[in-house]
Amino acid sequence: MAEGDTILRAARRLDAALTGQTLAVSAPSPRGRAAGVERLDGHRLERVTSHGKNLLLHCGDLVLHSHMGMNGSWHVYPRGAHWRKPRRSAWAVLAGEEREAVQFGGPTLRVIPAARLVRDPQLARLGPDILAPDLDLDNLGSSLRTDPSRTLGDALLDQTLVAGIGNIFKSEACFAARLDPWRPIADLTDEDLRAVFTAARALMQEAVETGRHTYAVYRARRPCPNCGGRVAARGQGDANRTTYWCPRCQASGADR
Ligand SMILES: [Zn+2]
Repeated sequence: MAEGDTILRAARRLDAALTGQTLAVSAPSPRGRAAGVERLDGHRLERVTSHGKNLLLHCGDLVLHSHMGMNGSWHVYPRGAHWRKPRRSAWAVLAGEEREAVQFGGPTLRVIPAARLVRDPQLARLGPDILAPDLDLDNLGSSLRTDPSRTLGDALLDQTLVAGIGNIFKSEACFAARLDPWRPIADLTDEDLRAVFTAARALMQEAVETGRHTYAVYRARRPCPNCGGRVAARGQGDANRTTYWCPRCQASGADR
């Protein structure tokens, strides 16, 4: 699953390749044609933004909204270069002067009128972006407290509370802050919540800069880097997404 850091990197890559240019747009796959991406043909790309796991390409009165989910991707190639996937499987091809951006797969690709963006049901309900430059950490903490019985690991994945954290950074941020992902929100102090958000943001900012993910506990491939103990793994929340944590280092009252 592409998390907020991957989407922000994609936004920057697309922005560098195509912003300010008039796009020649095509939709080789029927899925792209159904989404109406060809309506963007001849439009000028004004800017590319991301909000959590959502990527938005602003083209005047129209916006292309993309959510990559588990298997969607954007590639950028020099025009005419060989693609790593077959042309017919591309949902959208956005060609600029020298480069072209190609989109494949994912749960969401659609064109929305720019005027409807602020009240779009899918986008308007998103919480603040964990990578937003002006993020208010105290405000985030208060939103998390709206359901105090919810466990920390589950609440961190709720995109309506905070947008951009996925399964990797949920586990990694809880470990970095030495907080048990199974503790209910009611059990955590404001300082705890601030610590977990600060950790998530720092880890994700690092991933934006380097393009790499280095895991301490995610996928439990190695012993805990702090105590050498076994990293635990168990499904959490309604979607049963696997959470990885060190039961020793992240126990309540463990030394931080
Ligand atoms: Zn440990």
